[in-house]
Amino acid sequence: MVVTPFLLTRRFFKTSFYFSFSTATAPPPPPIRVGLTESVGRAVFATRRIAAGDLIHTASPAVCHPSTTAPAACYSCLANTNSRPQQLLPFCTQHCHQRSKGYYDVEMKANWVAFDDYCRTHGLKYPFLVKRLACMVISGDAGSDTLDILQPANLTLEMVLQMEEGFVLLRNAFTKALIADEHIAFLTKQWYINVLARIRINAFRIDLAGGLYEDLLSSAVATVKAEAAVGNAVYILPSFYNHDCDPNAHIIWIDNADAKLKALRDIDEGEELRICYIDASLHRDARQELLFRGFGFQCNCSRCLHGD
Ligand SMILES: [Zn+2]
Ligand SMILES: [Zn+2]
Repeated sequence: MVVTPFLLTRRFFKTSFYFSFSTATAPPPPPIRVGLTESVGRAVFATRRIAAGDLIHTASPAVCHPSTTAPAACYSCLANTNSRPQQLLPFCTQHCHQRSKGYYDVEMKANWVAFDDYCRTHGLKYPFLVKRLACMVISGDAGSDTLDILQPANLTLEMVLQMEEGFVLLRNAFTKALIADEHIAFLTKQWYINVLARIRINAFRIDLAGGLYEDLLSSAVATVKAEAAVGNAVYILPSFYNHDCDPNAHIIWIDNADAKLKALRDIDEGEELRICYIDASLHRDARQELLFRGFGFQCNCSRCLHGD
């Protein structure tokens, strides 16, 4: 999500795989391109004029997980499962059940009491995303390098030490479940820390807008109470959007974890698209503090520069 130039790798920019799905039957590619800027590194730009309210593109999560306080959330797509047939739970539809079968079967083989206790006592939510990704790698649903393209957070020694405990518990759960060594060869301490470091600054908290959708178009950011979050998810393309305290785009979720990027105002061709990572209604000092602590950068947007 956040980009600081010293951590950039250039290999991504030689590729354009995001748009490779453009075939005769697929929808047209989104009106954006990812490029490099002098000041903030990776950034997303409009390739044509986009009108206020337009859907710029949608994005499915690379990995997602429901929050422990959202028992009705589909275990696959985070949609509400309250009105679904009992036999499908914890999934919302047969489709979600089928597409999750691989990693769900892996997960069900293991005992997660110790790992879940560790997360609960430390108030951690992101290790659940690592667990989900690990199960997806084991089942063949994802590559172990799925999140490598994202920028990692800078970690303190204290953070790394806490992560090590989570790693041991995760690995133990798989070994005790007799998952073959060759299937968890990728699951090293370094892999666990690398993944978590990326999740830390790239995960989105998912709040479903549902019927409130139209109202959200007029607000700068979907500030729904934290308790309402149905889960967390990591995306690739949405993570390349830089931050602005007065953004021209925002990201919303309607019924499930599929993200929708919408234009908040008219955007010119070539203009950079930015979203707000935090609650834009906070005052300047609070925003700066949050952005620095959470994402490791100082915001130089025009609102911040003007002391607004
Ligand atoms: Zn679902
Ligand atoms: Zn700012």
